[in-house]
Amino acid sequence: MLGMLGGGQLGRMFTLAAHSMGYRVTVLDPDPLSPAGAVADVHLKAAYQDREALQQLADSCVAVTTEFENVPADSLRWLSSHCTVRPAGDAVAVAQDRIREKAFFRSCNLGVAPYAVIECDSDAAKAPANLFPGILKRARFGYDGKGQVRVANAEEARKAFKDLGNESCVLEQRIALKCEISAVVARGADGIGRSFPVSENRHRNGILDISIVPARVAPELAKKAEEWALRTADKLNYCGVLAVEFFVTESGELLVNEMAPRPHNSGHYTIDACMTSQYEQQVRTLCGLPLGDTKLMSPVVMVNLLGDAWQQGTPSWDRVLNLPEAKLHLYGKHEARDGRKMGHYTVLDHSVEAALQKALITRAALYPDWKD
Ligand code: ATP
Ligand code: MG
Repeated sequence: MLGMLGGGQLGRMFTLAAHSMGYRVTVLDPDPLSPAGAVADVHLKAAYQDREALQQLADSCVAVTTEFENVPADSLRWLSSHCTVRPAGDAVAVAQDRIREKAFFRSCNLGVAPYAVIECDSDAAKAPANLFPGILKRARFGYDGKGQVRVANAEEARKAFKDLGNESCVLEQRIALKCEISAVVARGADGIGRSFPVSENRHRNGILDISIVPARVAPELAKKAEEWALRTADKLNYCGVLAVEFFVTESGELLVNEMAPRPHNSGHYTIDACMTSQYEQQVRTLCGLPLGDTKLMSPVVMVNLLGDAWQQGTPSWDRVLNLPEAKLHLYGKHEARDGRKMGHYTVLDHSVEAALQKALITRAALYPDWKD
């Protein structure tokens, strides 16, 4: 029995991978309708700090992992004195806080966008001019672009700081991007790490929209991104699956954006297009098994299915399924809301251009209101 803290789609795909390898899974998530809870062998419907539920996890599971970065690090730390916990609470805690995360990347000698820590109104008032236009980001509990405000000057930064609740923030220079890429890596307890092929990611309204693999960047740049992600995992003495997001600047420079201590939306493509998926890799690292091969078997494009596509009710899935090159994944969420990740599909073809073209035609039919 394996334990999973969090019942979202990442936990669901982990559970499916664990099942195919013969494991059973207990999911802890307060939501009675959680996507992972629906497929788990046992679903503990309790808060992530609930001592009784944590005790039950510890008693019934040989190893516990997580699928979202805002899991209380203290719950992971507590569990680790009872069973194997991967990744460790201390590593997750670094990824949970942009201030710690950025300082950590710098200590690894990785390039980051120019930034300043904003803890109070006067930090915002005194922010260096080179950070504008910038983005003020809350240090904790941000996702899908939430908790972020674009600011043109110090006055706007002060207002945004107040609007974000006077909580610790980082102010980042807004980078002129050529593109964004990410590398998902897995590292075992033996220190051996392996990267999945780098993905090129396009966002819409701060939410991942499309991932393209192989990324259309210079091979040296992709290699550097893999190397940086593996170095991050090494320096954290990380065990598990770790995703690292990067900016590629207009001049072709690589900068680290952030990391996620878990499988990643931009790694969904691995299910259909790689020898081993990021979820199987998570099972392997959790159970102390050798890492699987991460080879890409076909060019692939992944498209997120957001609640926006449900405006006229459930979309007609023939739009995806009529495409012989496409694979559809739905997360079993009961309520569609704009911006909510409901599923995804991948298109595999002989080239990324061919896959992208087909993926975009399908996407246009699913989101008739979207203008690119
Ligand atoms: P997620 O958890 O979905 O990855 P997040 O809320 O943690 O998102 P970020 O990754 O920091 O947020 O930002 C979301 C997106 O906003 C980025 O992928 C990028 O497209 C854009 N963005 C963020 N910071 C910058 C920046 N400094 N310069 C230019 N674009 C940025
Ligand atoms: Mg991000």
